[in-house]
Amino acid sequence: MTNPFFETWNTPFQTPPFDAIKPEHYRPAYERGLKEHAAEVYAIANLGEAPTFENTIEELERCGKLLLKVEAVFGNLTSSHTNDELQAIELELAPVLAQHWNAVYLNAELFARIDDLYERRASLGLSPEQMKVLERYHLDFVRSGAKLSGAAREKYAHITERLATLGTEFGQHVLQDEQETVLALSEADVAGLPEFAREAAAETARERKVDAPYAVTTSRSSAEPFLTFADSREMREKLWRLWTTRGDNNDAQDNKAIIAETVKLRTERAHLLGYPTFAHYKLADSMAKTPETARALLEQVWTPARKRAMEERDDLQKLISEEGQNFALAAWDWRYYAEKLRKDRYDLDEAELMPYLQLDKMIEAAFDTAAKLFGLSFEERHDVALYHPDVRVWEVKKGGKHVALFYGDYFARPSKRGGAWMSSFRDQDRMDGEVTPLVINTCNFPKPPKGEPALLSFDEAKTLFHEFGHGLHGMLSNVTYPRLSGTSVARDFVELPSQLYEHWLEEPAVLEKFAVHAETGAPMPKALLEKMRAARNFNKGFDTVEFLSSALVDMDFHAVRDVTDIDPAAFQKASLDAIGMPKEIAMRHASPHFLHIFTGDGYSAGYYSYLWSEVLDADGFRAFKEAGDPFHAATAARLYEYIYSSGGTRDFAEAYRQFRGRDPDVEALLEGRGLKAA
Ligand SMILES: [Zn+2]
Repeated sequence: MTNPFFETWNTPFQTPPFDAIKPEHYRPAYERGLKEHAAEVYAIANLGEAPTFENTIEELERCGKLLLKVEAVFGNLTSSHTNDELQAIELELAPVLAQHWNAVYLNAELFARIDDLYERRASLGLSPEQMKVLERYHLDFVRSGAKLSGAAREKYAHITERLATLGTEFGQHVLQDEQETVLALSEADVAGLPEFAREAAAETARERKVDAPYAVTTSRSSAEPFLTFADSREMREKLWRLWTTRGDNNDAQDNKAIIAETVKLRTERAHLLGYPTFAHYKLADSMAKTPETARALLEQVWTPARKRAMEERDDLQKLISEEGQNFALAAWDWRYYAEKLRKDRYDLDEAELMPYLQLDKMIEAAFDTAAKLFGLSFEERHDVALYHPDVRVWEVKKGGKHVALFYGDYFARPSKRGGAWMSSFRDQDRMDGEVTPLVINTCNFPKPPKGEPALLSFDEAKTLFHEFGHGLHGMLSNVTYPRLSGTSVARDFVELPSQLYEHWLEEPAVLEKFAVHAETGAPMPKALLEKMRAARNFNKGFDTVEFLSSALVDMDFHAVRDVTDIDPAAFQKASLDAIGMPKEIAMRHASPHFLHIFTGDGYSAGYYSYLWSEVLDADGFRAFKEAGDPFHAATAARLYEYIYSSGGTRDFAEAYRQFRGRDPDVEALLEGRGLKAA
């Protein structure tokens, strides 16, 4: 049997041949990939020569090619286009992969070589980047238990394996919940919905084969418009309850037991490595360094944000009374009345805005911004195999030279998990010749009916810019070693390139050119632009409280000091009570579907990162403002040099300082959210 993973990819840009890859290819490819990698690691560990940077670190950077190749394809598809077969393989593989990596990180001979190099690092004559790679490897190994021995080592390995399975199950449960939950709606139920949302609901009903004219799902892009516009209070409540209880229904897909076990094992793991809590372990390898520092920032913003949210609540309650109603504002009413109030106060209406925010035009806007800042050009390719017909791909050049391929997978579908993210099929490096990256952005925008343009809300357009900012971080990467490529940076630094990029969407120069009406082609009227600007900080108390409550609950789960069984529901409630969570606002991600922190270690004790990075991006964008030009060439050149192209080659605080000329100032964040004390 031929297996595309065993062959050289003679495709354009050596892209994955998705047309040839079938589910049955993964198991054998993983099997051989793991075997090859294990043999290569064994050879490095047992080399009968004294360790050198070349024969140890560079060889480690070089090995595991087949494993990487299959992992990049499989890892992406299980998130963006999965099925029962892939999910079964994923679940079966989770502990196998964890075992494999444990064997690498807990290999005593191998670590002895790395440790020896690390101890002698000052005398090895390494370049600054080589020094970073060596330090990074040493830290990766230490943080993965390399210094443990005996029973502790075994316990550590067991915990890691179990956590891998739990994380996979957690994500699959949420996806299954979202796939199964559809709310069928009658004509009367959709009263109040503007044309775009009504069409999307009709499309959902057709797609999900619901026996009703309309339907909504619990994916954010489906649920939020309904909660914003639907006049039916009863249906809003129904949907809100379905949406906020994903993974929390005491059924086969319930995630609470997984949370309890995960928290317990993470705490145990931190103790084995000598940290008092998992958050201490996690943050030791971040810009914030300690949970106390991260929490201090969250709390600094929480107080003014909560105060603002309470004022917003009072305004919404007033509106309800003015309508002659006498119920108390509930969580499922907030978006609906906020939209009404926004219309009253700023004469701004989301439905009026959307025809100007066409997906295709927003993609162009993101590309054009990158052209102006970094000299990139984009050309759509039709000769590259794709894994789904909705996916598109562009060749990216810088100054006429090929630098990357960019894949865009924008529409929601049942086989895709919720949210939006950037990832890659291959990362940049030049250790053995130039390897150019294959970067992908995945979003969950509602797919329009055939023949109609996809329209975005302003938030969705911002998401597009956000993910494209991450994409640029991968595509502009200009490093030698794979370990330091692109987004291989501290978690609380990684949101800087993405959040910074969002600022350009709000630039008049960008909107005037690309926010053109889907039917008439007319640019967005100046008055509408003005109204948008005026309404910029409307409802920011709500947004901030939604986010911060999730970040603080994440910190609390990972600040547990004893290895005990927690009751996740009671724990979350106590955590929210302690900060005085307004009952009219729900966490942006309640713990039973908090994918960021429970599907793996990516953002665990790390959801605060968005705010940490916002200190940097709010302050960073001011560098352009101060220069008087949103595309100021010298500032953009520094941005490229120190932020977008440098991957993990620099100290992150130092990189920011080089770009900005000083340390960041939190004032810009507070002002940007309209939370600065008057
Ligand atoms: Zn992001």
